[in-house]
Amino acid sequence: MKTEFNLVATAAAGLEAVVGREIRDLGIECQVENGKVRFKGGVDTIIRTNLWLRAADRIKIVVGEFPARTFEELFQGVFNLDWENYLPLGCAFPISKAKCVKSKLHNEPSVQAITKKAVVKKLQKYFHRPEGVPLMENGPEFKIEVSILKDRATIMIDTTGSSLFKRGYRTDKGGAPIKENMAAAILLLSNWYPDKPLIDPTCGSGTFCIEAAMIGMNIAPGFNRSFACEAWPWVDKKLVQSIRDEAEEKANYDIELDIIGTDIDARMIEIAKKNAREAGLEDVIKLKQMRLQDLKTDKINGVVISNPPYGERLLDDKAVDVLYNEMGQTFAPLKTWSKFILTSDENFETKYGSIADKKRKLYNGTLKVDLYQYFGQRVKRHQEEN
Ligand code: SAH
Repeated sequence: MKTEFNLVATAAAGLEAVVGREIRDLGIECQVENGKVRFKGGVDTIIRTNLWLRAADRIKIVVGEFPARTFEELFQGVFNLDWENYLPLGCAFPISKAKCVKSKLHNEPSVQAITKKAVVKKLQKYFHRPEGVPLMENGPEFKIEVSILKDRATIMIDTTGSSLFKRGYRTDKGGAPIKENMAAAILLLSNWYPDKPLIDPTCGSGTFCIEAAMIGMNIAPGFNRSFACEAWPWVDKKLVQSIRDEAEEKANYDIELDIIGTDIDARMIEIAKKNAREAGLEDVIKLKQMRLQDLKTDKINGVVISNPPYGERLLDDKAVDVLYNEMGQTFAPLKTWSKFILTSDENFETKYGSIADKKRKLYNGTLKVDLYQYFGQRVKRHQEEN
């Protein structure tokens, strides 16, 4: 089996650079591209990136890349890859995904079928199995993905399983939860650091608060779940355990954090509390029912992060206009606080009553949203006291 892999971490549009930074923070060199970040490493790197990347979607092994303008080229290209170094005899290897973009080959089901045939043929040859007799596929699963972009095929194996945004703590959600990896990415993009107070005044199921606490305590986001590759025979269980043990040692449960989540809806606060409990953070995050219009604080240099209702999703347009206006008035006195507001409303700034210092385009699922960023005035703590 292999010791060094070509890997990609996939990321939502707009978040690639955040994922790139996280990978570099793990001490791994990488290149940021559209929708993905490329890097290399061994099995330990596969485990470590699955366990630690907060903003990525999945970690995939790139088995190979080649031109594929015809089915024959696709078949030969797939057949020529070193499948024997990845797929043990008896494993299941569904071609779980085929995507063709701007390419001559565009019939995705056929691309899937040809790819399957080519892998089967290669394994039959390598393991000296008769052609025509199907291979048993009752072992561990390796999901193979084919992507053909501008006539170039990339063949990958998914190492993650269910997407990395599924951390394992979400027991319940409200009408419009933000994905966990998107929430983490926004926190990483913001100027929040664990020594600053953080408030999410529309906290819903508590995603921002829980992700912030996990960042603050240096808890690995994948700590509560497993990954598809852990079932593979060549992924050493002891190695996985040692990387998990190392993560446990790196966590700092003693750090003091000031993280508050509030929401107008008492049921959402109950859900947020349940999720925080599931993540083991119930004593760390303060959650209470409150209207955001009632937000007041004497603390300084904090960060407000909010993902308020958008017109299309939760409230009618008129109510959104009023809410955004009241939001502007409520946040205005918090001069030293930075505010990060995620909404799809293109007229947000007018309704809120202030132009953002910076805007960043992101996608919440398929919905285009903007992160409106307002930076707090800097105040040194001792100046404030004098
Ligand atoms: N980020 C959240 C989802 C937020 S959805 C998550 O991950 O679950 C928007 C939330 O704003 C809803 O939970 C809704 O109850 C709340 N909300 C609407 N109007 C509000 C108001 N005036 N004050 C406080 N919260 C409000």
